[in-house]
Amino acid sequence: MVEIPCLVCEKPLKFPSYINPDNYDGQLVCNECGSLLHIKLVASEPRKYRLVKKGFKIQPIQIITAVPRPNDSEETKNENAT
Ligand SMILES: [Zn+2]
Repeated sequence: MVEIPCLVCEKPLKFPSYINPDNYDGQLVCNECGSLLHIKLVASEPRKYRLVKKGFKIQPIQIITAVPRPNDSEETKNENAT
């Protein structure tokens, strides 16, 4: 298995199983710091290796709480009234 350190955090990158280390040219996200790298592998050797975006992270889906919950808004109203 190929082990290439991340350009940002220097932790070894984990290659998903769908990546063929003998012939791969594409992007990879570091599991540790979430940076997006572009890597070209030929015969398990990195031929092209560059940072695309530092600290790129796939954020978990966040529930937008711009609309206050009924209980919260009532409490706020009461506080404002007094
Ligand atoms: Zn990293």
